[in-house]
Amino acid sequence: MSKQKKILVTGAGGFIATHLIRKLKKDGYFVVGVDIKRNEFIESEADFFIIQDLTDQTAVDYLFKNFQFTTVFNLAAVMGGMEFLANGIYDYIVLSDSTKININVIDSAIKYKVDKIFFSSSACVYNQQLQETSDNVSLKESDAYPAWPDLEYGYQKLITERLYIAGERCNKIETRIARFHNVYGEYTEYETDKAKAPAALCRKIAIANDGDEIEVWGDGLQTRSFMYASDCITGVLKLMDSSFNEPINIGSDELISINDLASLIIKISGKKLTIKNINGPQGVRGRNSNNDLIKAKLNWSPEIKLEDGIRILYNWVNKQVNK
Ligand code: NAD
Repeated sequence: MSKQKKILVTGAGGFIATHLIRKLKKDGYFVVGVDIKRNEFIESEADFFIIQDLTDQTAVDYLFKNFQFTTVFNLAAVMGGMEFLANGIYDYIVLSDSTKININVIDSAIKYKVDKIFFSSSACVYNQQLQETSDNVSLKESDAYPAWPDLEYGYQKLITERLYIAGERCNKIETRIARFHNVYGEYTEYETDKAKAPAALCRKIAIANDGDEIEVWGDGLQTRSFMYASDCITGVLKLMDSSFNEPINIGSDELISINDLASLIIKISGKKLTIKNINGPQGVRGRNSNNDLIKAKLNWSPEIKLEDGIRILYNWVNKQVNK
């Protein structure tokens, strides 16, 4: 990307956008971050951080008119861990707020002639029926159809993918769409129902004493892959610099069960703990990222091994809970 670019990052107070803005500023870009809240763990490095509700169409229009952005990274979403997304209480705002945000942002991007817009989609767009076993369920991009996405969150992401693709087809704007698979790293929620599995498990283990039991939802045999934040950001920037304009996986393909993830964190902690499987939301049975397309198109693969990334996350969470 040219250094002359004026970049908007939405969801700037969130976990992934915080890492993205750090990298964009390190690379010398002018960055405006927008969110309804700041990141509670670290000061944003954006040139301007604007507190703004992006569901408000008039405010979004004003923002674009004022700054004349050239590039947009649209990461704002109503988002949380499995408990938040699966318990049904937030279904309406997951669908309604994220839809309003995504429409407002691309509408203004088209109106004010933004060159390129990025949308953060999710592995939740994939057909649930393909994810009923815990063996290596390697999801390639075409597996999103026939459509049967995971939860309202997955439906919201899939329809927005189509909206952004149509935006490019019918208007002079370039779109890039990544399907993220479970991203983890520092500056993320670890305590509330918005915490995702790696950070939530790190917290449980960080506050436990030798001899304690760690509760893991379900039988713990459900499988996922987890990608460290810096790998995610490298993938996003490579995608933005490329001419590839279809949805593409950005994820790790290092599959692990949730019990094994918990055991790995226990090993890193050096504590003597045991796992207790309890009833709780566990999502699809198995899900892995198939990285054939991104390797072929962008020559990208994640670099951080799960154990190395989880050690960084554990040390960070451990510091937070012991403050
Ligand atoms: P996050 O919840 O930390 O960040 C999202 C941000 O959007 C939050 O800071 C939130 O305040 C903001 N937001 C919500 N409603 C808003 C509104 N009305 N106006 C302005 N801002 C608003 O989530 P994240 O993990 O950083 O995820 C970033 C993006 O990546 C999201 O679109 C998410 O769906 C997608 N994604 C994340 C993962 C993951 O594992 N973290 C996986 C797949 C997709």
